[in-house]
Amino acid sequence: MIYPRAGGELSVRPEDRELIPIAEKVEAGERISREEAIALFETDDLLAVGSMADLVNRRLNGDRVYYVANQHINPTNVCILNKVCVFCSYGVRPVAEDAYTMSLEEVYAEADAARHSPTREFHIVGGLHPKLPLSYYTDMVRGLKERHPRVQVKALTAVEIAHLARIEGIATRDVIRELQEAGLDAMPGGGAEVFSPAVRSTIADRKLVADEWLQVHREAHELGIPTNCTLLYGHVESPADRVDHMLMLRDLQDETGGFSTFIPLAWHPDNTALGREMGAEGRRTGGIDDLKALAVGRIFLDNVPHIKTHWIMVTTKVSQIALSFGVDDLEGTVVLEKITHTAGADTPIGLDLDEIVRLIRDAGKIPVERDSLYNVVREPALS
Ligand code: SF4
Repeated sequence: MIYPRAGGELSVRPEDRELIPIAEKVEAGERISREEAIALFETDDLLAVGSMADLVNRRLNGDRVYYVANQHINPTNVCILNKVCVFCSYGVRPVAEDAYTMSLEEVYAEADAARHSPTREFHIVGGLHPKLPLSYYTDMVRGLKERHPRVQVKALTAVEIAHLARIEGIATRDVIRELQEAGLDAMPGGGAEVFSPAVRSTIADRKLVADEWLQVHREAHELGIPTNCTLLYGHVESPADRVDHMLMLRDLQDETGGFSTFIPLAWHPDNTALGREMGAEGRRTGGIDDLKALAVGRIFLDNVPHIKTHWIMVTTKVSQIALSFGVDDLEGTVVLEKITHTAGADTPIGLDLDEIVRLIRDAGKIPVERDSLYNVVREPALS
């Protein structure tokens, strides 16, 4: 194990007696089991869970909190799975009134906002368009790198990679390799949702299954492309489903070490078929659940270096508190977020760097600006 496993102690002792042996394990730097992680989700002793996550995080990252000046680009909302992913409000049919597909010139024009800004990363994800070939994306990555050589490109989920492989009739590994040759630096962690077959058949039937999603990430890691991993929570899944999902991520990380960050994604029900079907049951996650997802992720995924709060989904206020619940990454400036906002997010579509730095400082932490690969761009001692 490459990360520090011991040192420091818990700031809060568990009141829930069931958590005492788990807390002892965390203090001793031992890995916790599936059943123990489920107990962490099921307890009401939130502060004890947060304290354990905080200890694990402080051993790994001290008081440093990372952020990145990034810009999201969503090239198309046309998606062949628009009827399949009932939790999603972004993907639409090609003939839908609000369907859009950006030309490469439009992508470059949107990216040009980065020319006079401190942007370090383009984060590119979108729908599964039935006609766009792999060359659309390789040309996009190449064109962006030519125009913005100092900006890194993190692009395409495992689901998009598998879709392009099907369209082109080639292996997923070859899709990643071609994107890498065009300049791809990293891959995002979307599309994982929840790996449980039962949950998947309810919220995303026929979407890439767990083994396929994991295989695409395994291939990216083998090619030297770091990736993120995610969990979509707050819909029909159980605590056991969440933990089984994280167990598969932990196992792959033991094998490859290629995940940079774990990002729990809070489901937003507005404008989704699942939200309509669930009625009053389909409400947004609360702050307690958001903090638990982050904290349990930090404790359980002891081999993933970073845990990121997606402030777009859980608000900047919860994200700021999360910095004391095991989180060491506050996402980025984002700029022009579209996907979660179609599902009713009422957070801003972007934050400026000063605001992010202030949120981190006000939480008593040290802001560290990073690039896509977690190289330090700027921190107080270096600025
Ligand atoms: Fe398409 Fe992704 Fe939405 Fe599914 S989640 S409908 S793949 S955009």
